[in-house]
Order: sequence, then C-alpha cells, then structure tokens
Amino acid sequence: MVIQMNNDYKMPVLLIGNSFKYEVESTLKLFFHTSRFNFIIEDVSPVSLPEGDCAVLTLSESKDKVFLRALVNLNGDSSEKSCELPADADKSTREHELCRLLFHILHNMTGITPPWGLMTGIRPVKKLTELIDQGLDREQMQSILTGKYELAPEKFSLAYATAMNQLPILKMIDPKAVSLYVSIPFCPTRCSYCSFVSHSMKSAVKLMPQYVECLCRELEIIGELIRKYGTRIDTIYFGGGTPTSISAEDIRRIMEAVERSFDLSSVREYSFEAGRPDTITEEKLRVIKDLGATRISVNPQTLNDDVLKVIGRQHSGEDAIKAFELARKLGFNNINTDLIAGLPTESAQSFRNTLDRIIELDPESITVHTLTVKRSAALFADGKSQVDNPAAEMVSYSVKKLMENGYLPYYMYRQKNTVDNLENVGYAKKGFENWYNIFIMDETQTIIGAGCAASTKLVFPGGRIERVHNHKYPYEYINRFDELMEKKSEVETCLQILSGGNV
Ligand code: SF4
Repeated sequence: MVIQMNNDYKMPVLLIGNSFKYEVESTLKLFFHTSRFNFIIEDVSPVSLPEGDCAVLTLSESKDKVFLRALVNLNGDSSEKSCELPADADKSTREHELCRLLFHILHNMTGITPPWGLMTGIRPVKKLTELIDQGLDREQMQSILTGKYELAPEKFSLAYATAMNQLPILKMIDPKAVSLYVSIPFCPTRCSYCSFVSHSMKSAVKLMPQYVECLCRELEIIGELIRKYGTRIDTIYFGGGTPTSISAEDIRRIMEAVERSFDLSSVREYSFEAGRPDTITEEKLRVIKDLGATRISVNPQTLNDDVLKVIGRQHSGEDAIKAFELARKLGFNNINTDLIAGLPTESAQSFRNTLDRIIELDPESITVHTLTVKRSAALFADGKSQVDNPAAEMVSYSVKKLMENGYLPYYMYRQKNTVDNLENVGYAKKGFENWYNIFIMDETQTIIGAGCAASTKLVFPGGRIERVHNHKYPYEYINRFDELMEKKSEVETCLQILSGGNV
C-alpha cells in the first residue's frame, strides 16, 4: 500500500543545511506514489514552516558533531526524529541517515513498510555480489541489508538466493566478448500499462521496408567491427516492443543479416522475444527456429480474459496457451513466459490461477514483473491501479510457488513507480538461466544495440561504462542513419580496447 495524493498537490519539502533532494525524494516516493514535491533549500531554518502537510530535513554541524533532524506534518499529525553523527561522517552517510529518520517517521505515521526498505537507486543483487566478493558470509550480509537499508527479511532471502544462483554464471562471463541486442520496437496495439518505447504497427507499417533495410545494414556494420577486432558475440537478444509484430519475411531478412554478419558458432545463447501471443504464427516460429534462435518468450502477462481486455490486449488466455503449445510442437525446448503482478482489476486468486496454469505448461523459465505505472501510461490517469492492489500478495505467492516447483530466481531488477515498490524477478529451471538478462543487470559485458530505440552499453576494462543511444523514432532512425553510424566510432574504440589494442 502507498498513500495516494491528489496529483495536483505538491507537498512542500524543506531542506535546511543540505541539498539531498534526490535521496529525500526517493525516500518520500516509497510512501507517496503519485504525488509531487516542492523542494525548498535553505541554509538556515526559516522563521516559519510551510502550513499543512510538509517535511523538513535539517542538517547542522558543530566542531565535533553533525546533527540530523527530520520532521513531518501529515494529515494534522506531526512527528519528528533526530540523531547525531561524528563530524567526520561523509556525505553519503549523512544523506543516508537523514533519509533513515524520514523513513522511520513515515513508517510510523502511515503504517507502510516498504519491502525493499531504503534501497532506492541500489541494485540489491549487485550489492550482495559486491559483499560476497568482499568475503562476507550470509549473516553479515543480512545484518547490513536489513539493518542499514531496512530490507524486509523475505526480500533479503530472495535477493540472496538470486545472487547465489547467478554467481556461477558471473564467474564464467567473458568480458572480452560482447552481446548483441536487436530492437524491433513495434506492437500491434499499445497496452494500457505500457511505458516502453513501442510504436504501433499501424503507424509504422509504411516505414517497415526502410526500417528493415537500415537495421540489416547496421547489423552488417557491427559485424564488420566485430571481425576487425577479432572479438566474438556471446549472446543475441531480439527484443521489442513485440518482435513478432512484423511479418515472417521481415523477421527472416533481419535474422539472415545476423547470420551473415556474425559467427553464430561461438554464440552461447540466441533469444527471440516473441512476446504477445496474438502476433505468434507457425510461419514466424519456423523462421525463428530455422535461423538459429534457441530461446523464445511467449508473454501472456495474465490468462484472465477480463483483465486482458482491460489492458488492451487482443488475445485471450487460451490464445496464449495455444501459442505456447505451438512453439513446443515446433521443437522449442527453451521457452520463457512473462507475467505481471498487479494488473488492474486482477485479483490475487486470478493471478494464482494464471501462475498455476503456466507452471502446468512447464516452461523453462518464468519472469514475474510487477506493474509499473508511469506518467505517460494511460492507466496512470485515474490512479486506481495502485489503490488496494494485491500485487504484494501475488508476488509472495509467486516466490513460494515457483521455488517449490524447481524455478530458481536468477536475475532481478527494480524500477521506479512499481506498485508497492515491488520487484521483477526472472526464475528458471537449473541450466535455463538467460545470460543476456544477467549481463543487462550486472553490467560486466558490453552489449551492442542495433535498431531504433536500442542502446549500446560499452563496458571498458576497469568497469567504466558508456552508453550510446540510437534514435527513438523509426523515421529519425531511418533519416539520420548515416549520422548515427558515425557514432559507431565509440563502439570501435571499445572493441579495440577489449581486443587488447592501444587507442
Ligand atoms: S506488448 Fe509490451 S511493449 Fe508492446 S505495447 Fe504491450 S507492454 Fe508495450
């Protein structure tokens, strides 16, 4: 649960003697989802405080101490807490402890317990991996995460299990190899909760021949660079949107460009996110399989037909099951299914029914996302999707049920504005973990993106990361293609360094 406030209201937040706006705002958002804040930064305490609901965070110093104080006025109640730190406490400790005071006040005033505590902007699994590298044992890690960051014990257990399951894979990463992301950001229609870059096929259909041509050309250019610097492609991921929105012939052209541009014999994993069941046909699946993809996703999100209608899907739960069974029949032996907890109008029982039925289908991996509602998504307008949402119950059920059935959590990420600040977790049977998903989260391998809205993440030796973004809209990607390809010089520099050459 979170406090729902009028979208037009901006709660005044006074920062005195500090400018910890980002962290304070992140902490407030754990409790107030859709509200905005009006930050006022002062060096010293003003004569009077704002009237009505407000928060005041004060930092002052003496020669040997730092004094922190947080005060919140909410719905006619007022609460405050304070603490002291030694004068040499660094900025991040001061910031963290001030936010911790605010967190405790809001927890007491609202009764809300954010499951991931104060872990905002920190990836729990990455943090755990760092602590494992430092040689800490489980008990020590639990004490840091549940103590300093106020994590709920069950979330610590989930993050710990995820970190332990991905550890053997992280040890085998080849940082000199790179992964390839191929972007097909189109969907037949837009789901009401969508906050991704995705363009409707209706508006994009005229541009498709040029889009496919540019994408194939970009893949060839990347292939030339890969060959020039003698590196190899480790994993390939076709993502969207919904890559199966485009025709079987266009899928073939793009996958053939991949085949002739890269040495597929060294590719460890080739994934194709088929996505929405209403776009999956036997012809497309045959093309995808014939041209080398070994893992596909069939993503119903829910099997409840009423909920599917509410989110704007044009397929039924039964269609999703049929698409899954068709993929099996055609010989795919590594299928992922995506579900979303917290979809509008979905009850906890309906989510349980979906998950139980999906487990009966026996996919190799199941990803459970939590609904994210961003400002641009149509659902956000009424805010209803976040009030009394049983998402937390659904997520708890999924953790228990999936683990009981041999699905182990192996990657996890958290996004802003998820219902109840919950997480997204990928579960897989042993040996069916998707390495690409781990690379995305762990940021230890370069990922080169091709296509409209794709981004490239260059990971240099020593951990420096640089990003190069392709244009977001298909017409920009097509019209400014030559200009975009000039930016490949940054990719070239990275590949040169990875190959051991001097720049
Ligand atoms: S299928 Fe995914 S990317 Fe496409 S509109 Fe729906 S949520 Fe957005």
